[in-house]
Amino acid sequence: RLLLIGPPGGGKGTQAKFLVDHFSIPQISTGDMLRENVHNKTLLGKETQKFMKAGKLVPDSVILDMMKNRFSENDCAKGYILDGFPRTIPQAEGLDQLLSHMNQKLDCVVVMDVPDNLIITRLSSRRSCKGCGQVYNLIFEPPGVAGKCNECNEDLYLREDDNPVTIKQRLTVYHEQTAPVINYYSNQGIAKVIDANGSIDEIKTEVLTNIIP
Ligand code: AMP
Repeated sequence: RLLLIGPPGGGKGTQAKFLVDHFSIPQISTGDMLRENVHNKTLLGKETQKFMKAGKLVPDSVILDMMKNRFSENDCAKGYILDGFPRTIPQAEGLDQLLSHMNQKLDCVVVMDVPDNLIITRLSSRRSCKGCGQVYNLIFEPPGVAGKCNECNEDLYLREDDNPVTIKQRLTVYHEQTAPVINYYSNQGIAKVIDANGSIDEIKTEVLTNIIP
């Protein structure tokens, strides 16, 4: 049971995809779950869209309810990779409660350390596939055919919140509300900080050597 924590654009999603293959456990990305709800125009999507568009956090109670439901699904039985949750101290405390009800605990928290200036470059050049959600980077990991997904050939798009103004807002939120969560897990003795400044392969090796001692 792993948790990846780091700034937006810090590479959590990319590394989570490798870990899914490596350990055959699901990636649980609250951002992906919320975007799916917005896309499907569910009640939850309608409630949360305005926060996401503004680069603000969705209220803790909404996220914790969504996660409680997610943990009850069968695919979580053998473990999971949490990506983008918890993002506040109340969420971390809520997660601890959910875990203790399930008689579970987190095995490892990987903290992806990336400087802010690199985040802005990474996010403004990030593109996602409309079909399968695969993520590309026009500078560091471009698709084979411009604007098209290598996996399913669908169009790539720029996320609505990956614009310079919203990126700055998301970074502020990260430093104010999410960075304290790192201390929360350092105090529990399960946080491993890795330098997420290198290539995707370098970071992958770093992540794996930290979670498998
Ligand atoms: P992400 O894809 O992880 O960058 O998340 C995109 C947006 O979804 C964030 O900017 C928030 O508005 C919302 N979001 C995702 N996860 C959470 C969370 N754990 N708590 C609150 N809001 C979240």
